[in-house]
Order: sequence, then structure tokens, then C-alpha cells
Amino acid sequence: MSVFDHKAYDQHERVAFYHDAKSGLKAIIAVHNTNLGPALGGCRMWPYASSEEALTDVLRLSRGMSYKSAMANLKLGGGKSVIIGDPRKQKTDDMMRAMGDFVQSMGGCYITAEDSGIAVRDLKLMEEGCDFIAGTQAKFRYDGGEADGNPAPSTAYGVFVGLRRSVKHALGSDLKGMRVAIQGLGHVGWRLAEHLHKEGAKLYVADIYPDNLDKAAELFGATVVAPQDIYGLDVDVFAPCAMGAILNDHSIESLRAKVIAGAANNQLAEERHGQMLKDKGVLYAPDYVINAGGVIDIFHQRMDSSADAMRKHIEGIGDTLLEIYRKANEQDLPTNIEANNIAEQRFRKN
Ligand code: NAD
Repeated sequence: MSVFDHKAYDQHERVAFYHDAKSGLKAIIAVHNTNLGPALGGCRMWPYASSEEALTDVLRLSRGMSYKSAMANLKLGGGKSVIIGDPRKQKTDDMMRAMGDFVQSMGGCYITAEDSGIAVRDLKLMEEGCDFIAGTQAKFRYDGGEADGNPAPSTAYGVFVGLRRSVKHALGSDLKGMRVAIQGLGHVGWRLAEHLHKEGAKLYVADIYPDNLDKAAELFGATVVAPQDIYGLDVDVFAPCAMGAILNDHSIESLRAKVIAGAANNQLAEERHGQMLKDKGVLYAPDYVINAGGVIDIFHQRMDSSADAMRKHIEGIGDTLLEIYRKANEQDLPTNIEANNIAEQRFRKN
């Protein structure tokens, strides 16, 4: 199948394939749209079962970045790259350098950063021969703390701000006493739990690994639930912070939360599930809007901006969500569709 006929192809500007025989690198870069600026998006290394699977992933992910950056008011386009291989077994320093050469060959229309399977150390190797790498030099954190290059604190803060505004909008209340179920206590979920606990929320948490669950029970008085039980809890807010496609026919049926606000990418199994949530009276904070804190962080680090400017920009996520909720309401549309419409108006040229 050609790229142009691929089901995930959506007017992508460029899709480039690269095989470096010496290092064994097999990679794809997809640039979805650069109308607002160079396409920024992380590099993912994953043991894809086939090159078809890798292509589908990179086309979907790069498209998602166009929407995310447009809604975060960033002068950036959408792009992403994937390396086919197991990061634990097949990654070598030369492979990372070859990936840097590949990114360089795009001439600056694509800027790469961290994603699953790629760490700051890998980016530094890519940077040896490439001018278009982001996220290797974190200088400041949104709260003035010491930066370590991990954008998760910014993502978690953005989700927290967005969740608080969504609760105010839907339930007319602050977070004190609000019951929030967090799915996944990883880099983002854990930090979100910290913020929510400080505001007096009552937490319910699930993870497939016990490490952070016991700590959350001890430090935040959180109630630990089994992973399969997180959807049907009698709570006010559901915060998905683990994986995608968790909002589907099955889970929406059992949901009792009135607000969904979490960090996970691609939460809706299909766009039509936004309508299902609306019909059920659930307010859905579109994932790529509420989880944009990380890309905002990378942007400010690159621009040599400041912690203060970064924090204000992240806090703008709350205003953007309110704008989406207002317009969606006016037009009787699900929030995911309204967000898509606003983003497309911003990044598509007439
Ligand atoms: P992470 O890998 O650190 O955390 C994910 C957590 O979810 C892990 O603790 C994992 O054990 C848990 N988990 C996996 N399957 C689960 C299940 N079935 N039930 C409950 N828990 C489960 O990842 P992260 O960096 O915290 O990111 C979380 C989500 O947010 C991901 O979808 C990621 O793509 C998205 N995201 C992250 C960032 C960021 O800055 N890290 C930015 C934007 C979006």
C-alpha cells in the first residue's frame, strides 16, 4: 500500500524512510503540517511487529501533534518519528547518531524530542550531528524548581489546572472533597495525585504495578482499587494517566464520573465516543489540550524563555478548555469535535 492510500494518511506533507545498514537503523519521520512552524514531536523506539504498524503509528502520532501544538498556541507544526526495534535489546550509540543524521537531513522542518524508548542520553548522541533536537538542555522548571529534562512535571501541572477548571465548569465546585479516580501512577499520574491531594481531593488510584500504590495510600490517604475496577467507581472525576483507547463502548457504559480529565494520549477509542460521553452528560477534557504541558515546556526551553512565562503558558490550558466547552455548548457538539475544529482552523491554510 502506498503512503497516500494509507488509512492514517491525512494530508501529511512529508513522510521519509531511512535505513542505515551500518548501524541497523530503520526509521520513519512523518511531518504532518508545518503551517504554524517547524514540526515538533518526539522520537519513539518500539519493537513494531511490522513496518506497516510503524507507519500507522507515526502517521497518527504526527497528526496528533499538529492539533496539540495548535491548541497550545505554539508556533509549531506536527511531526513525529519512530525507530523500529526493541530499545532494551537493539539500541546502540551508532544507531542514535544515525537517527541524528536522518533528522538533520530533513533540513529543520522536523525537530525531535523524547518519547517512549528514547532517553535524554540518546538525544545527546543524535545531537552530535544534528541541529534539530529539543529537550536535551532543560534550564528551568515551571515552578522554579531544578529542571532534570523530564517534561512530566509540566504535563502534570497542566492536567491539574485543566482538571480544576473542568470541575468548576461542570460541577460549580473547587477540588476540596472531590472524589478523583486516577488510572496509572507513573510520571504524570503520581504528580497529579500530589497536586490534587494538596487541594483536598479524595483519591482513588489504580496501577498494574504496586510500587506507587502503597505510597499513595500512605502519603495521600488514597484508596487503592484493582485496575479493572477504576471505571465504575462512584467518583466525580476520572483521570486517565496510563494508556490510550480506554474510553470505549464498554468502559463508557460503566462510568459514573461526571468529568474526564487526564494525561493519557488518544483516550477515545474512536471519535464517536466523544458523542457517547456527551449523551451521558459527562464533560470530556480533550486529551491533546489538557496534556500539552510537556510540549509547552519543551518549547520554552528551546526559546530560552523563563519559568514564569512557561508556568503562565501552561495555566492557559484552563482558558483554552473553557473556550472549547463554551463553543461546544453553543453548537451542541461534543468537546473532542469542537477542539478538532478550532485546531484545524488554526493550522490549515485556506
Ligand atoms: P508512565 O509510563 O510513567 O506511567 C504510566 C503508568 O500507568 C505506569 O505506572 C503503568 O504501570 C500504569 N499502567 C499501565 N497500564 C495500566 C492499567 N491497565 N491500569 C492502570 N495503570 C496502568 O507514563 P507517563 O509519562 O506518566 O504518561 C502517562 C500517559 O500520559 C501516557 O499515555 C502518555 O502518553 C501521556 N502523556 C505523557 C506526557 C509526559 O510528559 N510524560 C505528556 C503527554 C502525554
